[in-house]
Amino acid sequence: MSCFEHKSNVEMEPRAPLKTPADRKNGKHVKANDIPPEGVYLPNNNIMAPHMISPEYVQLSNAAAITLGIMGGRMYRTECTRCLNLLLTYPEGCRANCAYCGLARHREADRDYADRNFIRVDWPAVPMAEIVDIVAKDPENSPFHRMCISMITHPRSEDDTFTVLKQWTDKIDPELIPVSILSNPTTMTRADVQKTKDLGADIFTVALDAATPEVFDRTRGKGVQSPHKWSKYWDIMLEAKDIFGPQKFGAHIIVGMGETESDVLHLVQELVDLGGHSHMFCFFPEQGSLMDHLPATPRDQWRRVQLARYLIDFCDVRVEQMTFDEEGRVQTYGICDAELADIIDAGIAFRTSGCPGKFQDDISACDRPYGDSPPSDIASYPFQPVKKDLKKIRKQLDIPVRIE
Ligand code: SF4
Repeated sequence: MSCFEHKSNVEMEPRAPLKTPADRKNGKHVKANDIPPEGVYLPNNNIMAPHMISPEYVQLSNAAAITLGIMGGRMYRTECTRCLNLLLTYPEGCRANCAYCGLARHREADRDYADRNFIRVDWPAVPMAEIVDIVAKDPENSPFHRMCISMITHPRSEDDTFTVLKQWTDKIDPELIPVSILSNPTTMTRADVQKTKDLGADIFTVALDAATPEVFDRTRGKGVQSPHKWSKYWDIMLEAKDIFGPQKFGAHIIVGMGETESDVLHLVQELVDLGGHSHMFCFFPEQGSLMDHLPATPRDQWRRVQLARYLIDFCDVRVEQMTFDEEGRVQTYGICDAELADIIDAGIAFRTSGCPGKFQDDISACDRPYGDSPPSDIASYPFQPVKKDLKKIRKQLDIPVRIE
């Protein structure tokens, strides 16, 4: 029996956004003040953000900035990140309004775009040329196993993604550090997908985020005055399947936004059947987002989905071999207890999932340290879980601790 309640669609309802004053719409005041950027900009909500625009400027995750050496700081039980996550940046920011996202449009009411938190961390802004210069000095020995460009919803995002990608591949061999594109399907065409491939991208992913069309509409479509459509996301993902080929495309899915475990795992199976992969995130109520009043995904629900997703994605187990209870929760995993015990003890299933790096196919370069939980209650492990972590994971899974 689970000790937590599964939260239904109704209970995971986003709150309504506040009205944005006219002078804060579309980054108007940042553009009007036009403060020229100088070097690295560290997010600071007490000062006006400078006028920074991609492709000259990009934002990068806190973990990537620490790893790159342009910012001080330490991360709990993690020395570096293996993925250089870049984010396009504009004073107007992302024009979509996804309810779980710290970058969403409604936040222009209280924060400049460059100062917004995203997946729980700050994203410093840095000239792209500076990043390329640092990595190009020794790409072979770089801590980064992959680079990823996150497009946002903005009229310039396709063209600027091409420029940023070209700037990278002109100086850094994509065989040494491959590039992933985290796309924005809403404004993309097949030709755009093709162009990312032609310019040297290795993997193309679609941030589907929601596991069902209903959750999608409610959290990032009509329900929150956001422009995205489930069908368009699928269209672009299928173009990517065609253009990039097997194992080179995938979808991001956030677990715990009102869907059932069965919903998510059937989607994971569908992606595997198409030849792609799923990259999972545990829902966390991002501060300032339209879902910041809602509970994080209960750990038992998250662990079951992590484990079952790993079995489907990497161990040839099919969702039809698993059983679910009347609330769609995983009851059995479709393999014998001994095999299941070995997979749990290997710990990889509970690490952050995403595009692979140089270690092995089922270990993600994109480790996003503490992007979906605080270090005190880790959801996705950005490192290899050790004995004490596995003991905790087994308790969360409600599977007795193994006696060696
Ligand atoms: S499109 Fe992406 S960046 Fe923009 S609000 Fe939605 S999730 Fe956030």
